[in-house]
Amino acid sequence: MTQSLIDTFGRVHTDLRISVTDRCNFRCAYCMPEEGMEWLKREGILSYEEIERIARILVNDAGVKTIRLTGGEPTVRARLTILVERLAKLGVELSMTTNGATLALIANDLRAAGLTRLNISIDTLHEDRFYQLTKRNELPRVLEGIDAAVAAGFDPVKLNVVPMRGINHDEILDFLHFGREKGVIVRFIEFMPLDAQSEWSNERVITAKEILTTAATEFNFSPITRGSSPAERFAYADGSGEFGVIASVTEPFCEACDRIRLTADGQLRNCLFALGHTDLRGLLRSGASDAEIVAAVAGEVRQKWAGHSINQVHFIRPSKSMSQLGG
Ligand code: SAM
Ligand code: SF4
Repeated sequence: MTQSLIDTFGRVHTDLRISVTDRCNFRCAYCMPEEGMEWLKREGILSYEEIERIARILVNDAGVKTIRLTGGEPTVRARLTILVERLAKLGVELSMTTNGATLALIANDLRAAGLTRLNISIDTLHEDRFYQLTKRNELPRVLEGIDAAVAAGFDPVKLNVVPMRGINHDEILDFLHFGREKGVIVRFIEFMPLDAQSEWSNERVITAKEILTTAATEFNFSPITRGSSPAERFAYADGSGEFGVIASVTEPFCEACDRIRLTADGQLRNCLFALGHTDLRGLLRSGASDAEIVAAVAGEVRQKWAGHSINQVHFIRPSKSMSQLGG
């Protein structure tokens, strides 16, 4: 029997984010430390069979409708297409967030395996800055990856851009031009306090309001009805597509949040900023039944809070960085 994953505020959860690894080939400063990151041990990471089982149970018995693969960097996990193929068979909308560096090699295989949507993260179009931000000289590969994703037929391809004051705040218009040229949807995401180096500050955040003010200096656009997306979407008046802004800090969309997150080591978290979790790996490995797993997930969802409290005195930073939580 299918039950809904509903919390005490009446929010129904249908979107599952699965982190397939905590590892990454980049070192983005806002996401993980440059050195000294302790990776999960191999045996601690969920196997593809375990991930597939949790996903299948939540799709068949708990109303999950969309799955996004993330990480760490999902493409560093070996034979990812095998997992994509298995999850695609569940009949859900299956997407992935990636840094894009290996897409030129694997975009076609991922598409053929059943992945339909791709978000590619890119925060600068300048090579020197790209190195400063990621500690890798991979901008050319990421640009090739974006082209490969479009050519492989992913629809839509979205670019995730995190504008930060003093770092890449001057690239908002460049990114809008780039998105229009490439036929991809640029989405600006407000910088959140999940950076491993704890360098986040309110002043660093380029707010949604600032982004829209800058965009309006060159483009005419109007809002598109939002639906359940955390992004405020805007259509260009000349019909050449859309862009989005995710105001996770200044105007959080918590009241409509429908997401749950599974970390690479099998912890279920009900919010990016949650301080607790439910250990699904322990349950799986101790022989729990499907019904017991659904009950554990439903219990975790019931404990979800109304919303995060960044900017309030009682805000507590999660001890894990974005790379460990999955964006
Ligand atoms: N490695 C993949 C990637 O970079 O797309 C997937 C994982 S990454 C943690 C997912 C998303 O989180 C990326 O779009 C990244 O830009 C975003 N992200 C990481 N740290 C962030 C922060 N402190 N604030 C806002 N977004 C952040
Ligand atoms: Fe890696 Fe993505 Fe985090 Fe950058 S944002 S360090 S690519 S996990």
